[in-house]
Amino acid sequence: IIEAVKMANNLSINTVALTGKSGGKLKSMCNCIMVPPGKGGGVKAISSGDYNVTEDVCTLEDGTAMQMMQKWPVRTPRPFQQKYAPDTPLITGMRILDFLFPLAKGGAAGIPGPFGSGKTVTQQSLAKYSDAQLVVYIGCGERGNEMTEVLDEFPHLIDPNTGKPLMERTVMIANTSNMPVAAREASVYTGITIAEYFRDMGYDVALMADSTSRWAEAMREISSRLEEMPGEEGYPAYLSSRIAEFYERAGRVETKNGDDGSVTVIGAVSPPGGDISEPVSQGTLRIVKVFWGLDAGLARQRHFPAINWLSSYSLYPQALDQWYRDNIASDFPEVRTDISTLLQIEAELQEIVQLVGSDALPVDQQLTLEVARMIREFFLQQNAFHDVDTFSDLGLQYHMARAILSFQEEAKKAIAGGAQLEDVVNVPARTDLMRGRFEKGYDERINELVTEMGQQIAASMEAN
Ligand code: ADP
Ligand code: MG
Repeated sequence: IIEAVKMANNLSINTVALTGKSGGKLKSMCNCIMVPPGKGGGVKAISSGDYNVTEDVCTLEDGTAMQMMQKWPVRTPRPFQQKYAPDTPLITGMRILDFLFPLAKGGAAGIPGPFGSGKTVTQQSLAKYSDAQLVVYIGCGERGNEMTEVLDEFPHLIDPNTGKPLMERTVMIANTSNMPVAAREASVYTGITIAEYFRDMGYDVALMADSTSRWAEAMREISSRLEEMPGEEGYPAYLSSRIAEFYERAGRVETKNGDDGSVTVIGAVSPPGGDISEPVSQGTLRIVKVFWGLDAGLARQRHFPAINWLSSYSLYPQALDQWYRDNIASDFPEVRTDISTLLQIEAELQEIVQLVGSDALPVDQQLTLEVARMIREFFLQQNAFHDVDTFSDLGLQYHMARAILSFQEEAKKAIAGGAQLEDVVNVPARTDLMRGRFEKGYDERINELVTEMGQQIAASMEAN
């Protein structure tokens, strides 16, 4: 094993420059052969014809011969000119993530959750729909058949952003549970290095690692074979610094070439028993700015994605709010605040409901509970396996959130005018509005449905 560790430490990967057709967003960046960091200057000679990646294709003025691939020690971050503060969201199409807990391009997120709570489904959904130009997917120490599924499925899926097969923008690193431990440890570094390499070409890259806990376990195993002093729960004492080093390699940068590129990192964490007080979860939480906490209870109730809206957080909204105002709607941040406030009030009211039942609440609080239920069932729940529901663009997310607030407003008015809560809640247009999200063309119909709902709610007041 010691030999294996040495090997892994010396491992450098050959990253191959992208060649071939460029198109859509990928513009001219696509055809580049990168000059290795540390080298530079003009081109003395360049060849044309067919070459493989190890043959010389170009000579620089200082005599450096260049090939279409580069070697790079995977544990060393690749250099850049400067890091920028993130200001653009990574759009994922998952409503709870984009709307309530957004991740910036160049940011880092952790998804901790017990077995069966949806880490893999979430990561795969991000790999499919997030608006990164390149995706690096590391299957690290998890079931092999999950990687097989990805390999089977991706070639048939179309990238919604470019209209090309998803496979063309995806790099997969398979290091499943049956593979050697030392290789598992190296796979995470290999992935992030490949991500940086494409970042250096000016791409927005998203990297998913499923799961970083298996990576940490590999570190533990290697460290104990090396007879190093164990730290907390047997993990090596350097565990948290290794985790930090990994997530630190995320970022939006000015590349050596003066381009703008980013690496966004999303790491799944599988804490034993779902208890996030263990070292890997804690080490991750200390460094990432976005926490998407999966909840076994929600998964049991089949509320998917089982992301707990009370414990999750994102520290990016402030940095991104200007982007939302400019690109989606000028009151986007306010709508988000209204929605998350409603969810918090619901949690407080639920405590009272458990003691005395909801009938004992005043009608305005009963309405708040209904509105919050609508947020959960209509907005937060999203079926990753449904053709239409699996992806909502930001504009639609905003309209859905506005629809909920508009229901609240109309209902308040009607109830003040003497309507019964039950009648208001049960207007047929509201059901249509909520079910409509499973149908194609919903974004064109939603405003019409909201108007209809308003009319029916107003009519329920007159009926009384
Ligand atoms: P984990 O990787 O955390 O062990 P998985 O991602 O494999 O869990 O999810 C377990 C199961 O939960 C899936 O097979 C699926 O049935 C269900 N599931 C998880 N997320 C969703 C979702 N967004 N939509 C529908 N079903 C989901
Ligand atoms: Mg999994």
